[in-house]
Amino acid sequence: MRMILLGPPGAGKGTQAANLSIALKIPHISTGDIFRANIKEGTPLGVLAKTYIDAGKLVPDDVTIGIVEKRLENKDCVNGFLMDGFPRTIPQAEKFDAMLEKMGRSVDLVINIEVPDDLIVKRMSGRRMCSCGRTYHVDNNPPQKEGICDACGNKLYIREDDREETVKERLKTYHQQTSPLIDYYKKKGILVNVDGTKSIDDTSREILELIKNHA
Ligand SMILES: [Zn+2]
Repeated sequence: MRMILLGPPGAGKGTQAANLSIALKIPHISTGDIFRANIKEGTPLGVLAKTYIDAGKLVPDDVTIGIVEKRLENKDCVNGFLMDGFPRTIPQAEKFDAMLEKMGRSVDLVINIEVPDDLIVKRMSGRRMCSCGRTYHVDNNPPQKEGICDACGNKLYIREDDREETVKERLKTYHQQTSPLIDYYKKKGILVNVDGTKSIDDTSREILELIKNHA
């Protein structure tokens, strides 16, 4: 099964992708992870990607498509894959379709995880981190003493990505760029919507059920 996972930042795509990858025995392909790994290892691709990222620019589609194509040539993709974080835009989706067609393949199913913006903002802006690696949430998983890590006593902090203004900015970008993809795949008849407001396990179960019905 060749699948794409769509949904706003903070909808739990990464967690769902990891669960589904195990349940369906197909690889979870995150372009973000591939870029980060290449940058860390200092590969030519990583060096190239970093020049764009450091300049505050988006990595060009051709570069991203190139790494996806190379990744899909791996043996582990023979029974399918689960794309997470790609495609992000209509031009990327069109190029992805063209690339798969060249390989004699196509996308089977697109899972759209739906979470309202206000809930995303609440989920993300409530996150608190500690330098020791522990994470908290002001509503769902608060520390015993406000702003202080239970384990090490250090002061908790908010990640830049989790700041309310940053989250709202990312949601705006998502709606502008990625939401049109929902229509793109709907027209192809391969889109299914999933309620992402439930618990991680409930959402995973719903997705697996949908996949079973689709297959
Ligand atoms: Zn700590």
